[in-house]
Amino acid sequence: DNQIQLEGVRYPLADAGALVIFRDVTRIRQLEQVRQDFVANVSHELRSPLTVVRGFLENLLDGPLADDEEVGSQLYLMEQQTLRMQSLVEDLLSLARMEAAEAEPERCDTVLISALVMSLLDTLKLSITEKNLQVYTELDNSLGIFAEQVDLTSILRNLLENAIKYTPAGRSITVRWTQEPDGLRLLVQDTGDGIAAEHLQRITERFYRVDKGRSRRMGGTGLGLAIVRHAVERYHGHLDVRSKIGEGSTFIAQFPPSLARKATESADIVIK
Ligand code: ADP
Repeated sequence: DNQIQLEGVRYPLADAGALVIFRDVTRIRQLEQVRQDFVANVSHELRSPLTVVRGFLENLLDGPLADDEEVGSQLYLMEQQTLRMQSLVEDLLSLARMEAAEAEPERCDTVLISALVMSLLDTLKLSITEKNLQVYTELDNSLGIFAEQVDLTSILRNLLENAIKYTPAGRSITVRWTQEPDGLRLLVQDTGDGIAAEHLQRITERFYRVDKGRSRRMGGTGLGLAIVRHAVERYHGHLDVRSKIGEGSTFIAQFPPSLARKATESADIVIK
């Protein structure tokens, strides 16, 4: 009847020929699925700590509790859950900020990685000494990178926090910042339990964790490596992960050589 039906829609078929419309619906469906999974994950991640806080609040409101110690411990647990929600919201904002910034990074400056690493290690020293970890650094003091400091801070903070979290007490972590023939290379290596090959492909996906329970107990949001990958790729860089069970993991952020800058003396780094 001079009409053609495609996906439930009837199109007129002209005498002179046919109108054919191709649309890649698989891609659209995949994106929609990713979005739905993301919303479900965020809701789930926020709901669990909220439920805990609410439960304790109801206990306190119902009162009277046995003693101050019990009140204290419930307040402490509520604080922990609130901090967890705060990290999640902060990580979500970091991701959103990077995804919204389609344009090239604009507020770039010469970032002195050696100073940044040292001040981050300083903010993390409590957990480093608590676990009696040895941290080896090999940082090119004169090598800067032309980038936004927030991005480099996110990359380093997440990689260092993970290395500390997933390395058993008494072992070591190595941080290296060097210029190689093919680009600038930031390496964070740990001597932890490693990541099995089947997980390695997926660990930079949002909310992907090898062991959900363990990661949550350690205060992880499951967004750290997604943030790292995004931040590296903003600079047309590449994040490479190598790992062997029982031997540890190595994360390498590789940046284009054009971002290299001679580092100026004594750039003050303030970590917020
Ligand atoms: P999380 O907040 O859970 O640490 P990330 O996105 O930073 O989330 O990491 C995703 C998962 O990858 C972690 O839950 C953990 O299972 C694994 N992982 C990340 N870094 C390491 C590491 N250095 N050693 C072993 N496993 C790691």
